[in-house]
Amino acid sequence: MKMLYKKIALILAVIPALNGYAATCPDAGAFNVLPQFNAPQKKSFKYFGNQLLSSFYKPFHMVQDAIVLEGKTATLVGKFDYDIILHKDLEGEKVHTYLYSQGMTQWEYIGATITNRDGRVYVPIADRPVGEYMVKMVVEGDLSSATGYLNVVEPNRKTILFDIDGTLTLNDFEGVGDYFGSKVAAAHAYATEVVKAYTAKNYQIIYLTGRPYWVTEDTRQWFKTKNIIPRHLHTNPSSGGLLSLDTENYKTDYIHYLINDARLDIVRAYGNAATDINAYARAGLPAQDTYIIGSQAGNGGTQDIGGDYSYHFATVVEGTPAVDCHN
Ligand SMILES: [Mg+2]
Repeated sequence: MKMLYKKIALILAVIPALNGYAATCPDAGAFNVLPQFNAPQKKSFKYFGNQLLSSFYKPFHMVQDAIVLEGKTATLVGKFDYDIILHKDLEGEKVHTYLYSQGMTQWEYIGATITNRDGRVYVPIADRPVGEYMVKMVVEGDLSSATGYLNVVEPNRKTILFDIDGTLTLNDFEGVGDYFGSKVAAAHAYATEVVKAYTAKNYQIIYLTGRPYWVTEDTRQWFKTKNIIPRHLHTNPSSGGLLSLDTENYKTDYIHYLINDARLDIVRAYGNAATDINAYARAGLPAQDTYIIGSQAGNGGTQDIGGDYSYHFATVVEGTPAVDCHN
């Protein structure tokens, strides 16, 4: 009898997957209310040089967002450095990692990790249920911190991919490597409405930008000022990135990861640059589902968005069916 129940449970679990009706609805307001965060005990830095670094310079830490297929182990990557110009890495110091998702009553302590020679920590998170998680990493020596997100997704999660600079924003900072205005950059008309509409229709949003890792916090600020959901954000882990081929390769590689490992179903991709068109095509995204704004629009058989998003919003986005999902 027990076996029979097990079999029935198994069949019931498989049916929605076969119908493609397996998606868990994302929750835009998942992190609007957070439990109180109890910081770890502050202890002195291991190295005196790092004490000086922390005393004289402003932290530029970041946590790279992670997205993984359910059942897989995610690797959270934190990068810890100081000063907007120097970007001096914090080496050999202890960082504490915490996790929170809706339904939990408090922050879960994951553990302590020592930063490597690049100021990075790699923290594995194994086999979490489908959902969205907030990640906090705290430097023990001065309690400076950074926040990011982990998404655990079902296979074939319907996804919309966006470039940021020159695509959602008016200016292509990414193209010229001038990121200092990125926190306050103006958006194309109806760009944020497009993002919000897809969010409301339960699509997974991916922001894949050539912006280097140290612009991550400014980028999160930008999302906040535009009142759009800031996840999933992927910035370039290498700080260089002025060479367009580097950007193209970096974007191609990450889309390969999203498709082959995270098993996302990317139904539309938005961009403005030749690097976007090339990367999307090389990663196998069809040109007819690639929407380009600006001077490159229409190249390579892509769709021309127009001068801004108002017409595209009315003719394409509004009529896009919502993703079937359940809570
Ligand atoms: Mg761009």
